[in-house]
Amino acid sequence: MTLHIPFDNTYARLPDGFFALQRPTPVKAPSIVAFNDALAADLGITGQDDPQLAALLAGNALPEGAQPLAQNYAGHQFGSYNPQLGDGRAVLLGEVVGRDGMRLDIQLKGSGPTPFARRGDGRAWLGPVLREYVVSEAMHALGVPTTRALAATRTGEEVIRDRPLPGAVLTRVAASHIRVGTFQVFSARRDQTALQTLYDYTVQRHYPQVQSPADLLSAVIERQAALVAQWMALGFIHGVMNTDNCTLSGETIDYGPCAFVDSYHPDTVFSSIDRFGRYGYAAQADIIVWNMAQLATALVPLMPDVDAAITDFTDRIHAMPDLIRAEWTRRFAAKLGIATPQSYDAGLIGDLLTLMQNGGSDFTNTFRALATDDARDQIADRDGFDAWAARWRERIADEADPQALMLTSNPAYIPRNHRIEEMIEAATNGDDGLFHRLNRVLARPFDDQPDEADLRRAPTKSEVVKATFC
Ligand code: AMP
Ligand code: MG
Ligand code: MG
Repeated sequence: MTLHIPFDNTYARLPDGFFALQRPTPVKAPSIVAFNDALAADLGITGQDDPQLAALLAGNALPEGAQPLAQNYAGHQFGSYNPQLGDGRAVLLGEVVGRDGMRLDIQLKGSGPTPFARRGDGRAWLGPVLREYVVSEAMHALGVPTTRALAATRTGEEVIRDRPLPGAVLTRVAASHIRVGTFQVFSARRDQTALQTLYDYTVQRHYPQVQSPADLLSAVIERQAALVAQWMALGFIHGVMNTDNCTLSGETIDYGPCAFVDSYHPDTVFSSIDRFGRYGYAAQADIIVWNMAQLATALVPLMPDVDAAITDFTDRIHAMPDLIRAEWTRRFAAKLGIATPQSYDAGLIGDLLTLMQNGGSDFTNTFRALATDDARDQIADRDGFDAWAARWRERIADEADPQALMLTSNPAYIPRNHRIEEMIEAATNGDDGLFHRLNRVLARPFDDQPDEADLRRAPTKSEVVKATFC
């Protein structure tokens, strides 16, 4: 049975300037590391037993109906505007409409250079491909809006980074790949026609209820505020919140040097390229506002009265921190078993985080222990914890079922950095066992899975990952 992807492409019908037609570049010896059968079934994709499957997923052959193209976009990278980015090493094969009626992009990442590659080789190495596979699928299982991983394929070729490394291609699925940077590229060029076309396309695809650019801005602000609060409630650090890595759909995208906090500290930074902590754990709540201000700026030319639009958009941006705070409070209150948060709950949450920060508690295990064991063991300041716990118990006394809420808000399993590193190291040496095990366990992050308990363990001092690379 041959691979069948029921393509129904719309982006390929947009005007010149939105993309460059670009076929993937064939590789030497494709072999599949993983194919996500469950996701494929949701998308109506069949033919996983196609003998050609690896060749199709590595880009050596094209599935019928694919119209491969590299998308054009710009973006602020670490605060500096880069007028020309675009897919340098990825191609959109096309779109499918899934079982639930949602239109999704199918993209190959690491499929060879495109006209947007600048000096890049157009390739990805196995480590980041497997990290994105595991972490994006884990995020999905954790309930976070995110791009998904349909497949990972070895290329049989080496890519040169600081040393030769095995190459790979990720098959990524996304609600779309429209980024803040996609609006920026046309807006900055004053291409009013393209900007209007992109706006119309985005509204139709993601926000059919939206009536104006101001509405669109508010709708994206709402989703991004909820997303970042959800990241923070899981201890997730994206690592590269450049505006080209910030979607209009509100999905998490571009898993590069991302990481989960082990020992809690709000200033935690893992990314080796984030030298000033611009995208650190707590900074994410500020940077997303800055990113939305860039989206607002890009949308202004669509408004008939520019001065009025600037005032209106500024108000919408200024309202965003309160939205994030409300989402943050709701998410963290749920972690304490509180279903109906009150504004004063922020104090209770903050005091626990301070206790955790002072003693370097493991973020994930401390919250999970609130539901399952005695979190007292996780906090260095025992007296401080006892005093806090007395207030907490009193607060949740009237909640209907705090334990059930905590058990579905506080995962037992997250993709721990030291396990991801261990997995990458093993796969680089040809052993994919831990990769498959992580995918299996992380598909049920809120289940105890006693046989897998070693994956819940916080890293020892020597296991702690201090920096991530992409
Ligand atoms: P990222 O930091 O992964 O979001 O990528 C930023 C920009 O660099 C995007 O335009 C990518 O397409 C491009 N890029 C990253 N790595 C490569 C590569 N190996 N070859 C070509 N382009 C790349
Ligand atoms: Mg990117
Ligand atoms: Mg990337």
